[in-house]
Amino acid sequence: ARSVHQIQSGQVIVDLCSVAKELVENSLDAGATTIEVRFKNNGLDLIEVQDNGTGISPENYENVALKHYTSKLSSFDDLSSLHTFGFRGEALSSLCALAEFHVITAQANQVPRANRLDFETSGKLRRTQIVAGQKGTTASVEGIFKRLPVRRRELEKNIKREYGKVLNLLHAYACISAGVKFSVRNTVGKTKNVVVFSTNGNRTTKENIANVYGAKTLTALIPLDLELEFEPSAPMRRASGGDTQSNQLVVKGHISRPVFGEGRQTPDRQMFFVNSRPCGLPQIAKAFNEVYKSFNVSQSPFIFADFQMDTNAYDVNVSPDKRTILLHDAGALIESLKASL
Ligand code: ADP
Ligand code: MG
Repeated sequence: ARSVHQIQSGQVIVDLCSVAKELVENSLDAGATTIEVRFKNNGLDLIEVQDNGTGISPENYENVALKHYTSKLSSFDDLSSLHTFGFRGEALSSLCALAEFHVITAQANQVPRANRLDFETSGKLRRTQIVAGQKGTTASVEGIFKRLPVRRRELEKNIKREYGKVLNLLHAYACISAGVKFSVRNTVGKTKNVVVFSTNGNRTTKENIANVYGAKTLTALIPLDLELEFEPSAPMRRASGGDTQSNQLVVKGHISRPVFGEGRQTPDRQMFFVNSRPCGLPQIAKAFNEVYKSFNVSQSPFIFADFQMDTNAYDVNVSPDKRTILLHDAGALIESLKASL
């Protein structure tokens, strides 16, 4: 029988993208400057993320994969001024319920020793073993969804497309994470550990884009640098407690020069961020594409756009996987954006 824990976990970890997202965000939260993501069989057999971050402190070994355990929130007030990606303590616990999950972790003072932690499906620590390791954490997810057979079959059927989606998401994390060396590898059949893409730990997002999409991409790009205001709605004013600067929007990034007439199709090269957090913003994507179309531009544009705005202007809590971001004033914001584009 399926447990309540498994069903809830399936709402936090909905697909391959959620696995990669949760693990990479944990690495970024741990202050990593190198992150390597490894797939086996496009992720069906293994998704593993290795970082050189702080490592997990031994007093937390018992807790890290328990439901709602997080080391990242110290008071309720913190929720509104969150600087970390994670704060719910649901990812590791969900991965234990849905796959074979283990971590190998070491803090600086433990090296060259590290600890391998294995967990029960409930998230309870099953055992620890001392192994050789470097500073940081490697989290390994084997056989994702093997305990939810319908979803597993669905994933197997669509693995090519799902793997493509996860690469696009990883492109976004690699491009936005200045100062982080990112690499992604995949093993399929006899082609072992092939580097799919990597970045060099660059200081700028522009250099990251060159690493990921090729240096030639840069010649087609122009900077996106907008500062605008939009009409905030009433609930937002309430939430921010009066007259704040919450209707200010800064949009920073890079977009492709409009190419008129025949152009190369470049789909899947549109990355959106809210306060540097990669996320899908379909309405905003639509607005950009409409502006390009209105100039009679045939190619679909390259877009790398970070929307910097008051944390009261949106809600990341609408879905457990935190991927959907709800903009309270999407309409006003898009009008203003279109006008300034
Ligand atoms: P959250 O990120 O919301 O805190 P998670 O379930 O993703 O919840 O992780 C639980 C805890 O495990 C984190 O709060 C953190 O203490 C620890 N942790 C997970 N991944 C890492 C990592 N890569 N490096 C260091 N600590 C980690
Ligand atoms: Mg997390």
